[in-house]
Amino acid sequence: MAGRDDLDVIVIGAGLSGLVCATRLVAGGARVRVLEARDRVGGRLLGVAAGDGVFDLGGQWWTAGQARLAALADELGVARVRQFRDGGSILAVEPAGPPRSLPGRLFDALARGRRLAALSRMIARAGAGDAPAAWDRDSLGAWLEREVPDVGLRTHVAVHCEMTFAADPHELSLLDYLTQLGATGGHGDPFDGNTGDEHRFVPGAHALPARLAAALGDRVTLATAVRAVDDTGAGVQVVTDTATLRASHVVLALPPAAARTIAVSPALPAAVTAAVTATRPGPVVKCVAVYDRAFWRDDGRSGEAYLRPGLVRATVDACTPDGVPALAAFIVAAGAAAWSDASSPAVVAADLARLYGAAAASPTAFAFHDWGCDAWSHGCVAGLPPGARSAGAAWRGPHGRIHVAGTEAAERWPGFMEGAIDAAERTAAAILAG
Ligand SMILES: Cc1cc2nc3c(=O)[nH]c(=O)nc-3n(C[C@H](O)[C@H](O)[C@H](O)COP(=O)(O)OP(=O)(O)OC[C@H]3O[C@@H](n4cnc5c(N)ncnc54)[C@H](O)[C@@H]3O)c2cc1C
Repeated sequence: MAGRDDLDVIVIGAGLSGLVCATRLVAGGARVRVLEARDRVGGRLLGVAAGDGVFDLGGQWWTAGQARLAALADELGVARVRQFRDGGSILAVEPAGPPRSLPGRLFDALARGRRLAALSRMIARAGAGDAPAAWDRDSLGAWLEREVPDVGLRTHVAVHCEMTFAADPHELSLLDYLTQLGATGGHGDPFDGNTGDEHRFVPGAHALPARLAAALGDRVTLATAVRAVDDTGAGVQVVTDTATLRASHVVLALPPAAARTIAVSPALPAAVTAAVTATRPGPVVKCVAVYDRAFWRDDGRSGEAYLRPGLVRATVDACTPDGVPALAAFIVAAGAAAWSDASSPAVVAADLARLYGAAAASPTAFAFHDWGCDAWSHGCVAGLPPGARSAGAAWRGPHGRIHVAGTEAAERWPGFMEGAIDAAERTAAAILAG
């Protein structure tokens, strides 16, 4: 591969994908350097101290079917703990309706089941590449208004879209929604009761990149943003603010929106450029409110709520495994885009009090991260607007010596930690295979 003093591979981005990719490359005997723009590793996995706990303000859950993530956690000695979902949940998705308990919604279940089955058949067609082009020209929102008369189900799918893609259904291509659901195990229903599938990590998902980086040691360089990548044919040159590094291959282990800030030469193929341009990273603000007591548990509540409209669209129990009581709250799409660091936390506390009583209005500590305003993430999960897929947008590689990893490049579970590992391991294997 490289000359005696050169690197084999430069990986851009020390998120989960870049770090897994580097780890597998090193295991295969490659000389690797990881360049990370921030002064920390983990990217969209972030642990933040609040009160007496450390909380995930980025990615958090493992669910059944995510085999690579489970294997990686086992490999790194990171334990999993079941997400607390015992007790009553709140589903308040009607415009003017008061919060209602889950059982109150069950009379609709049969009719909705038939509609959801139809949606599942569409997901299968999208996954098989057998979808009409019109599905891409349609937005999910327009399709719901036209084809789904049941207001409850329409709202139900809209909430699912908001929580999965941090997007209003009108912003997403119907085909992109169906295809991404197909790659993540179908139409996961967030209101189907306590499945027990969701697990968190101890001490948090941020432990995964932290342990990978510790093992990679000085192969990881922080606070080093890559500005340009040049594939010379004989190798690659990677330009930072202070140096030009050379290697045989480079891996872009970052979200498509982050690639907008890197000058790539020769230009990437039109499909990749289209994906970089069209991708819509979903704005999300994730908050954690810490309390002295888990009063919602005392009241027989799970801490889980889905709401529409309002600033807070979802809450979950976020008590740490060692017992620091906390609730997490999610603000997505337009609410996140309009987030104000100065005034929005008070609105979140008021929403929590409306759901869980006056005690929720006064957390002992409060922390949040605004992912839409994060200069290196640009948002949470990437979706495509109507028309982008049929215009050929595809965030995939390799292109000469330039490889594409990051969760958005995954074949399975794009947008999730599982997808970050899928893309990383596939990319590392391809480079090692030559
Ligand atoms: C609020 C939130 C909740 C989520 N919940 C879940 C969940 O429960 N379960 C789940 O599986 N997933 C969840 N996710 C998604 C999950 O966090 C991501 O899929 C995963 O962390 C992506 O990893 P990645 O390495 O592909 O990308 P990233 O983590 O984005 O890593 C890319 C890295 O590249 C760096 N970078 C960018 N530009 C440059 C540059 N020019 N030069 C050098 N470095 C650069 C960035 O700083 C970053 O560190 C959530 C995400 C968010 C934000």
